[in-house]
Amino acid sequence: MNKIFLDHASTTSLHPEVIQLMTKVLSENYGNPSSIHSHGRSAKMIIEKSRKTVARLLHAAPSEIFFMSSATEANNTILKNCVAHLGIDTIISTPTEHPCILRTLEYLTAHHDVKTVLLSVDNNGNIDTEELRSHLEISTASTMVSIMHGNNEIGTIHDIKTIGGLCAQYNRLYHCDAVQTIGKLPIDLNQLNADFLSGSAHKFRGPKGSAFFYVNKKHNLPPYIHGGSQERNMRAGTENTSGIAGLAKALELSLKDPLYAIHVHNLRLHMKEKLLQEFPHIIFNGNQDTMYLPHILSASFPPHAQNSTLLMNLDILGVSVSSASACSAGVETDSHVLQAIGHDPDRKTVRFSFGQESTIEEVDRTVEHITKIYSSHG
Ligand code: PLP
Repeated sequence: MNKIFLDHASTTSLHPEVIQLMTKVLSENYGNPSSIHSHGRSAKMIIEKSRKTVARLLHAAPSEIFFMSSATEANNTILKNCVAHLGIDTIISTPTEHPCILRTLEYLTAHHDVKTVLLSVDNNGNIDTEELRSHLEISTASTMVSIMHGNNEIGTIHDIKTIGGLCAQYNRLYHCDAVQTIGKLPIDLNQLNADFLSGSAHKFRGPKGSAFFYVNKKHNLPPYIHGGSQERNMRAGTENTSGIAGLAKALELSLKDPLYAIHVHNLRLHMKEKLLQEFPHIIFNGNQDTMYLPHILSASFPPHAQNSTLLMNLDILGVSVSSASACSAGVETDSHVLQAIGHDPDRKTVRFSFGQESTIEEVDRTVEHITKIYSSHG
């Protein structure tokens, strides 16, 4: 059975050229980058070269890029550091952020007296930038904004240029979780007015356990993880040389692939059409006409006896997709994102997400499987 992976928003396979480079670095450049001998220096050179590559691709300065283990770590570090060291006591965000933002906000509220303001979102997950403006207008200098670029569940894209512009106008810090868009959409930090931005290699065909954040050079954050002087004191701990090299290579490859966005977008459109033919009452979540991620399709199937076992049945048939619900005390509940957009909990939501290697045949087979699952069980 040929397995089908339509879950590229959760992670991606390593690009063959990334594997090749990482294997070489793992076997040849194993020195500790902090060591001053030649083995150490060659590893250090790889890290600094990778930093330059990432900076060049995002239009930042190399000194503004810091490597770490995950975007979860990056987002935690930025928000907690801003509270601990930049005097932030109010954070404006949205209810549809990734859990690594929302749980951090809950922690900061509970333990550091931070006030969190969650903007309202419409049925497609869009914020109203006028609502943001009205909060910024009455805010003090100890307020910052953390709003993601592309939503990982429903694919809605926020207008981060306008958000960054408003933050700049009111002189407030702006952090952007760009995990779902880095490597997929061009990002120019020169044009963005972002103070902080995070990305994760495993979302763009790089390795897991390798991520980065950007800190605008205006800000001099003190170390958050204490220890050695790695990452210019920001993030102590021996660097993941091969992971960092793999991250930079994957970013370079993904941004120079002109066909990626067209390919995944075509698959998305094709799947939508096929699903609509088979399930006329299906609903697609998030923006559909403009401001959506080309690789994510969130579909809600009408109420049906088979809804609770759909993903399991697809898995048995070799199709990997994501659910947007969690099982709590034996009852399936919609994810926080679906709840925030007022989704009908009796519908079953599946997130299909496409990658470079996904094919039309895989989409067709997946829709056939879903159709059979629903028809064979009444
Ligand atoms: N932010 C968003 C929008 C994500 O989609 C994810 C991962 O799914 C993360 C943050 C966390 O990234 P990582 O897996 O590198 O911790």
